[in-house]
Amino acid sequence: MTFENPFSASGQWYKANLHAHTTESDGKLSPAQVAIHYRRQGYHILAITDHERVTPASEYGAHDFVCLEGLEIGSGSSESGGSFHIVGLGLPVGFSGYPKDHPQATLDAIAAAGGLGFVAHPYWSCLVAHDMVGLRNCLGIEVINYGCEIEIAKGISSIHWDDLLVRGERYLAFGVDDGHRCGWDFYGGFTMVKAPELTPEAILTALRRGHCYSSMGPIIHDLRLTDDGIEVECTPAQMINFVADNQNGWCALRERGPLLTGARYLRGGRERYVRVEVVDAAGLRAWSQPIFFG
Ligand SMILES: [Zn+2]
Ligand SMILES: [Zn+2]
Repeated sequence: MTFENPFSASGQWYKANLHAHTTESDGKLSPAQVAIHYRRQGYHILAITDHERVTPASEYGAHDFVCLEGLEIGSGSSESGGSFHIVGLGLPVGFSGYPKDHPQATLDAIAAAGGLGFVAHPYWSCLVAHDMVGLRNCLGIEVINYGCEIEIAKGISSIHWDDLLVRGERYLAFGVDDGHRCGWDFYGGFTMVKAPELTPEAILTALRRGHCYSSMGPIIHDLRLTDDGIEVECTPAQMINFVADNQNGWCALRERGPLLTGARYLRGGRERYVRVEVVDAAGLRAWSQPIFFG
């Protein structure tokens, strides 16, 4: 995975929730109801990812709304004994017979069926880098799982992500709700996807290419690579962090006066990667994909 800048790619930005449950597993709302709620809330993309089964979802799509088919698979245990969950998207209804004893076998089965797979809620699952280093057919991790955040305050996995990136794993990150009941665990974590059109194929391709970023609220308007660094523009922020490997990186901090709406990072030259993190006045964050150097 190399960094392809979605901000300089052609297309439009679409708002997505890539992880949701319905009455087809342990959710409280039917698939149709979940789709209606997200569409009314201004989302363009919803992935229905019930436990262990691909719920038919494409029928809930509309001209301004794509409903992706996928699932969430419990797959083996982590080093600490936590349960490993893998999300698969773009899978056929009826997808079954996949192995569940090891995440690698599950990810391989998802890829063989034409889907894309990523690791759900690493913090909630008590995963450590050892659990995720070297996984193949793994696009990345959930950096924000809103349901896990408001359930037990283990929904933000940015440290897990850095732990993987510093070890050379070029994982992407995604923002999701993992909602089970509307009104409580909906609309707190999302992925912005840049794609040339609003179709399942275009959205899945954009996700595979990393043409997306994750957020709990802040919007990144632009991100530019310059000869000597990175420039970013965003909704008003208390901090704009340039998070890098080891002790590289920098925080643009608003101390007084108006909130920040942009920042410029000058590379020190030793960074192997830098990712942008926008923190608004309420403490909500947005996370760009990592930009790799060298
Ligand atoms: Zn899960
Ligand atoms: Zn889930």
